[in-house]
Amino acid sequence: MKLLENISLKPYNTFGIDVPARRMAVLEPGDDPSQLLPVVHGRYFVLGAGSDVVFTRAYDGTVVRLDDVHNVTRIGDGMVRAWGGMTMDRLIEWTLQHDLYGAENLSAIPGTVGAAAVQNVGAYGVEAKDVIANVEAYDLQQGAMCSFTAEECRFAYRDSMFKHNPGRYVVLWVTFRLSSDFVPNLSYKALADVPHATAQQMRQSITDLRWSKLPRPEEHGSAGSFFKNPVVDEATYLGIKEKYPDMPEAHPTAMAMYKLSAGWLIDRAGWKGHTQGGAGVWPKNALVLYNTGVCTGDEVTALAGEIVDDVHAKFGITLIPEAIMV
Ligand SMILES: Cc1cc2nc3c(=O)[nH]c(=O)nc-3n(C[C@H](O)[C@H](O)[C@H](O)COP(=O)(O)OP(=O)(O)OC[C@H]3O[C@@H](n4cnc5c(N)ncnc54)[C@H](O)[C@@H]3O)c2cc1C
Repeated sequence: MKLLENISLKPYNTFGIDVPARRMAVLEPGDDPSQLLPVVHGRYFVLGAGSDVVFTRAYDGTVVRLDDVHNVTRIGDGMVRAWGGMTMDRLIEWTLQHDLYGAENLSAIPGTVGAAAVQNVGAYGVEAKDVIANVEAYDLQQGAMCSFTAEECRFAYRDSMFKHNPGRYVVLWVTFRLSSDFVPNLSYKALADVPHATAQQMRQSITDLRWSKLPRPEEHGSAGSFFKNPVVDEATYLGIKEKYPDMPEAHPTAMAMYKLSAGWLIDRAGWKGHTQGGAGVWPKNALVLYNTGVCTGDEVTALAGEIVDDVHAKFGITLIPEAIMV
């Protein structure tokens, strides 16, 4: 395990916010994770690729990271075990090269394999839970390795049991259950007309679609979708729909709840393209807050706070950030 002192976090978060951390511990695949125990006394934070975090101030503690190395093995029929520190996109590229399918709709999400399990990432009709079989994590509370089935992970919309035990588990390995037959998942409306004859084509279509709506991290920092889509009851949905007939149609989910488009609410409230200090609302997608050049975490949280208040005043809905403030 590597230990680094007084390190800038700018290269370690996709928002590009420049704050220092007192210490960073970097674990590699062959390392004994119990080496983490002495360094996590006091304040610490487990960081993946930093694509869903906003650092609001200097981090006076230890940032724990898994080294971003490619480490993936086929362990059985359609089963693939991947290191938590590698990016999901690199893993998906590898799976297609090995004729294994099912994760291609998650292409180009800039996060790690470990965080994909924590966050139950989702895109274009697929969620990580659809392909995860098992998660191996180090329990920093018990000082022991543990293994969880997908059911034990209690996956839900951008949620898992790991999110309800913040800082307790470091996800080291994730096993995915994939298929040797490519069946394109076109359930997401915008995919109806995209080229999808092969898995590679599907992956390219997803990637193109993604970057037509989102800022590329190398050009403008962001955390992707900044807010979760709010889930409301039927009366609330119908009340807003009556007042704003142009609101996109929502369909009831399992519990007869309706998932509304947070992006539409923010856009309708007039925030799309607005900038304030170094932070802004992405002109092509109001769900995304971005770094216009040089921005601080405080500027991002101030803008997010104003949006939350305004959307609440206009629609009676409280938006919840998906991005994590640190
Ligand atoms: C341009 C862009 C597009 C995006 N598109 C999508 C999208 O389509 N769908 C989607 O769901 N998300 C999307 N995201 C958000 C983000 O990529 C995901 O939430 C991703 O899973 C975060 O991964 P990360 O490795 O960057 O984790 P981080 O942002 O570093 O951390 C996220 C959380 O996971 C925890 N964590 C990270 N790694 C571990 C680990 N190994 N063990 C335990 N806890 C850990 C952290 O403590 C934190 O709570 C996007 C982000 C960007 C910038």
